[in-house]
Amino acid sequence: MTVEVVTFGCRLNAAESEVIRREAERAGFDDTVVVNTCAVTAEAVRQARQTIRALRRERPQAKIIVTGCAAQTEPDTFATMPETDGVLGNTEKLNAAAWMQARAFGVADAPKALVNDIMAVRETAAHLIEGFAGRARAFVQVQNGCDHRCTFCIIPYGRGNSRSVPMGAVIDDVRRLVGNGYCEIVLTGVDITSYGGDLPGAPKLGALVRQILKHVPELKRLRLSSIDSVEADRALIDAFADDARLMPHLHLSLQAGDDLILKRMKRRHTRSDAIVFCETLRRLRPDIVFGADIIAGFPTETEVMFRNSLGLIDDCGLTHLHVFPFSPRTGTPAARMPQLDRTIVKERARRLRASGALALCRHLDAEIGRDRSVLTETSRQGRTEQFIQVLLTQPGTPGAIVMRRITGHDGKQLLAA
Ligand code: SF4
Repeated sequence: MTVEVVTFGCRLNAAESEVIRREAERAGFDDTVVVNTCAVTAEAVRQARQTIRALRRERPQAKIIVTGCAAQTEPDTFATMPETDGVLGNTEKLNAAAWMQARAFGVADAPKALVNDIMAVRETAAHLIEGFAGRARAFVQVQNGCDHRCTFCIIPYGRGNSRSVPMGAVIDDVRRLVGNGYCEIVLTGVDITSYGGDLPGAPKLGALVRQILKHVPELKRLRLSSIDSVEADRALIDAFADDARLMPHLHLSLQAGDDLILKRMKRRHTRSDAIVFCETLRRLRPDIVFGADIIAGFPTETEVMFRNSLGLIDDCGLTHLHVFPFSPRTGTPAARMPQLDRTIVKERARRLRASGALALCRHLDAEIGRDRSVLTETSRQGRTEQFIQVLLTQPGTPGAIVMRRITGHDGKQLLAA
């Protein structure tokens, strides 16, 4: 029984790929490849189509099923490809009954796409995953969807509105995965700082984090995936000061450093909100590091506005940058705004990446000579609590946490004895 899952995009997709594999196997699929797509950029969709064509050349007999956000937002793009056998929406991909129905893909008159209205989905169940193939850390989904409508973003149309996994189910998930030997758990979702808004009593992410740390004392490391800093509640912020098991690393969905561009993006924070947030956290937890998503070349962005984004690297003290050259997504308001020339977009992305690389280098320089706790991912690779990659000169045991002395770096990762 072989079901392979090719995963694009975010940690939430990675977490869901484990459920997809399990449900497809339970439904009796064999010699099957599921392509779990991402729709964040046009480039991500292009890469998925390219991968599907290559898969068909390599595996002429295999069943190829497409799912994920690109399948949800543009099912026909994949259903009309001769290389594919079927398309499943983002809810259907996690649903046992839908996989049973998908066995009819290819049968005459059977629909080639099972994609329902994602906006009609009201609940998110816990998926009770036992483990993650070949991974030292486990992802636990706590939330799905998003109620915001940032003008550049297609995600709500692929994931629906925000809905949370009940707190008890999340704690059970974490306890089971820790019981299965995982030292690090990553809480994931689409907009995790909106956690709980749809649950009785509207508990916030801070309450969830505190309950996990309280009820799973054997958990060694708890990490958060991307957050919207302006939505971070007080209990969450204080948890960074109170509990060393909460990892000192936050990836922020900042997107830009200019207030007028942030307004045109329909973001909920200002440049100074972002700076104050980082300063506050750094006062409470001096070893914390920040990464951020930043878009280069948003429509109407002038050179001065761009420099405000560039300046955010130093003003927030960012060390890990994910730079996205603006990609107009059909159906979003930003796609209808006056677009910048692509050469300008690419050039600004290059400048952001170059500044980001320098900032990371400065951080890596400062790490040399320190002793750091490293979660070993493979015998030669691991990550510190700050989520910095480490090359281990002495082999380690995958899944184990070890203290190592940092001896150098290669500009991207640390070297440890
Ligand atoms: S908060 Fe904005 S960028 Fe993030 S998923 Fe929601 S709409 Fe997209």
